Amino acid sequence: MNALNGTEGVLRPTAWLIRHADLYDPEPRGLHDVLVVGERVVAVAPHLPPPRLGPDADVAVVDLRGARLVPGFVDMHVHLAGGGGEGGFLHRTPAVPPSALAAAGTTTAVGLLGTDGVTRSVQELLATVRAVNDAGLTAYMYTGAYEIPTRTITGSVRADIVLIDRVLGTGEIAVSDDRSSHPSEDDLAHLAAETRVGGLLSGKAGVLHLHMGAGRRGLEPVLDLLARRDLPPAMFVPTHLNRNERLLEQAVALAKLGGGVDLTAGLDRPAGDTAEIPAPRALRRLLEAGVALERITLSSDAGGSLPVFGPGGELAGIDVGRPRTLWQAARAAVLDEGLDLATALATVTANPARRLRLDAKGRVSAGADADLVSLDAELQVDRVWARGALVARRGRALLRGPFEGAFA
Ligand code: ZN
Repeated sequence: MNALNGTEGVLRPTAWLIRHADLYDPEPRGLHDVLVVGERVVAVAPHLPPPRLGPDADVAVVDLRGARLVPGFVDMHVHLAGGGGEGGFLHRTPAVPPSALAAAGTTTAVGLLGTDGVTRSVQELLATVRAVNDAGLTAYMYTGAYEIPTRTITGSVRADIVLIDRVLGTGEIAVSDDRSSHPSEDDLAHLAAETRVGGLLSGKAGVLHLHMGAGRRGLEPVLDLLARRDLPPAMFVPTHLNRNERLLEQAVALAKLGGGVDLTAGLDRPAGDTAEIPAPRALRRLLEAGVALERITLSSDAGGSLPVFGPGGELAGIDVGRPRTLWQAARAAVLDEGLDLATALATVTANPARRLRLDAKGRVSAGADADLVSLDAELQVDRVWARGALVARRGRALLRGPFEGAFA
């Protein structure tokens, strides 16, 4: 559309009439038509006539012929501005390009820093988040980094959440990890309180997103805190809970209190003492243990550095997490673990949207943002619409950031 903003491949008619969709909103609804005008879904019904929008309007009609249509994915853990660096400066990972999000079906991403709060800044993250929004997707962020006192833009977590529209909470704060600040219960309680009040004052979720490491106490610091302090469990959203058996067990206890349980899509280090539980299997096991589906989310950790292990379990290199692992994990929950499509979908659409209080996301109904994904017969991502624009087709991005591939 405009060579200057790099989105020339994107299709953005006045309206879309998407016909004969096997709709999952994310509950299965059967065959429906969906009408999109501008950036919003305006009608969903078994049959919709073409809209009358005036002589200048162009209405694109797409017949999905019974293909599945689902909400765009909401990924609550993306190192949008890059991360890593734990193998030295050469291993700092690059920013996640908007095209990779679009191709993955990720229409909403929440950015965060990680281990490196020194050469990375929340200011730079905010700029990256704004760029992703300018490209036509939706992005938010958490303020902070692994450490406590954590990194902020204004000097306070509370003020960042209140004053900066894109900031939804605090994260990822490292707990039970040798790279953490080894936070005390008071440290965590104080940070949680600041986050909560920031959320209350701004009408946002005010979540505390915790990176859980392989440390021996696991989720105990969080469970102890909830037993002793007056803080709402729902604001705690620890992640990487499929890192080991102990964390997964403790996650059941946290979920029963009302806390969020976030599983990382790419974790699948093979057997041994430190065995990770692949997210699709961890999801099935949590459900079998009686955890309410609405508590469980999946996220990709895209942009983060990923150790790669050789056949003998030795470190063989460092790779970078990719956005597409999010849907690969949800899809594998259906194909390999036997879960319903609606169940798998909830963990990457309605559940993260609800946890983050993003009311226009994670659903397909009148008034929602027009973030949609059509799936092919193998449940792979085909078309992706973000805020009413077609940004990917056959799983390939139409959308490009302005300088993507400039140095290829
Ligand atoms: Zn992490």
